[in-house]
Amino acid sequence: MKQLSAYDIDLQQLGDEPIALHLVLDEQFFQALPDAEIHSGRLDATVRIAALGDRFEADLSVKGTVTVPCDRCLQSMDLPVDEEEHLVFKLGEAYEELSDELVVIDQEDAVVHFDWYLYEMIALAVPMRCVHEDGGCDPAMEQYLSGEAVEEEPKTDPRWEKLKQLKDNNN
Ligand SMILES: [Zn+2]
Repeated sequence: MKQLSAYDIDLQQLGDEPIALHLVLDEQFFQALPDAEIHSGRLDATVRIAALGDRFEADLSVKGTVTVPCDRCLQSMDLPVDEEEHLVFKLGEAYEELSDELVVIDQEDAVVHFDWYLYEMIALAVPMRCVHEDGGCDPAMEQYLSGEAVEEEPKTDPRWEKLKQLKDNNN
């Protein structure tokens, strides 16, 4: 018996009845994926899959929010994600993506790892540049970016400089 994760479906085990996975994608989900650029979020995901003749039709959906850094103020921000995707799997000699929708799965190991498909749907939904809506950025960073930041270093009072020089000379 193969060890399957909550996101895996073994196509060989799929009977005539369609099956559905209802998943919650949270911190744990994102952090378990190596190389994932999104590290946190909270989404509900559904995977429905049914065998139809020699193919397997799958409908995936993800809905919720992901947390990403704002490209302007670097504070985290929540982005809504609401995506659906249709995928078709076929068994074959080796894994091959024939198109965005049609994937051949190695019949010797016919397990589909849906965590990656769900992650890709989410990652594609996140725009290249994410920024807070107007006025939503961190105020301190906003001030800094607009060049109005108050200088942190107190200016040296010239009179103190004079005194210090006198003192040094007396030593
Ligand atoms: Zn921001």
